[in-house]
Amino acid sequence: MTPFTYERASDPAAAARAVAARPDARFIAGGTNLVDLMKLGVERPGHLVDVSRLKLDAIEPRPEGGLKIGAQVKNSVLAADEQVRKLYPLLSRALLAGASGQLRNMASTGGNLLQRTRCFYFADVSQPCNKRTPGSGCAALGGFNRIHAVLGATEACIATNPSDMAVAMAALDARVETVTGEGAPREIPLGELYRAPGEGPETTLGHGELITAVLLPPPPPGRQVYRKVRDRASYAFALVSVAAVVDAADGRVRGGRLALGGVAHKPWRVEEAERLFDGGVETRLFDRIADAALSGARGYGHNDFKIDLARRAIRRTLADAAGDVS
Ligand code: SF4
Repeated sequence: MTPFTYERASDPAAAARAVAARPDARFIAGGTNLVDLMKLGVERPGHLVDVSRLKLDAIEPRPEGGLKIGAQVKNSVLAADEQVRKLYPLLSRALLAGASGQLRNMASTGGNLLQRTRCFYFADVSQPCNKRTPGSGCAALGGFNRIHAVLGATEACIATNPSDMAVAMAALDARVETVTGEGAPREIPLGELYRAPGEGPETTLGHGELITAVLLPPPPPGRQVYRKVRDRASYAFALVSVAAVVDAADGRVRGGRLALGGVAHKPWRVEEAERLFDGGVETRLFDRIADAALSGARGYGHNDFKIDLARRAIRRTLADAAGDVS
């Protein structure tokens, strides 16, 4: 591991200033991803600014409804929170589907959103990887790409975002609250947090911009379901995951939300697919929604199966959310 210096931040703006002051500085919270990458030589920060003890660990109701979730709330605490379980069962289930109990006890809300891809070649410094070393190429394109993206990918990178929590938050229209060294707060819709592959940095955050909270609006009407399809029953990343909200009665659908995980560089939502929720008989409608959500999907060889897997996972999850669990 490359030597680095360390400091513990006293408040969010000071933390942001400390990172902004050095191009080689990084925030560290739970460290569940960053420390692994440092051991592998993928990340080589010269300075770490510890934000884990900032007072950003509250889950509070917002005056306009919904919840404000501090960036340092641990994943296990968020999953078990009574308000979250009642208002956003989708989020609680997505969190519990992620990682292991030990990791959820350490991983923070802000860190979860910023975790790096689990592309094998990204983690292997002997392999070309545009994400790790821009311009070096992408070993996954001609390599073993079973876990890679089928939507939104480019020839620059076909990696997926590994977060379950982000998929649920995308379906719930979450916004991310940040602060910079100047103390100026900013709100970013979750869908605008991640950049397309090959467009420079992975996120739209500036260097030294710190996530302080996630803001959830009141839950949308309807039943919420999160389904994760993976190679093992636990402690595995999603091949495909589906976060769905369906507002249905008497066999007709009045509205809904759909976000996909494991298939793209970010939680994948498609407006045209969601517009179809506005009326229709369930079974045929879910087929059309699945087709619209997967419009433009393409495989890269080993991951071709994901397209059909996603189609079936979407149909089944929407049926479950509509109350048809036959
Ligand atoms: Fe790197 Fe992306 Fe290619 Fe993986 S898919 S090797 S992360 S450029």
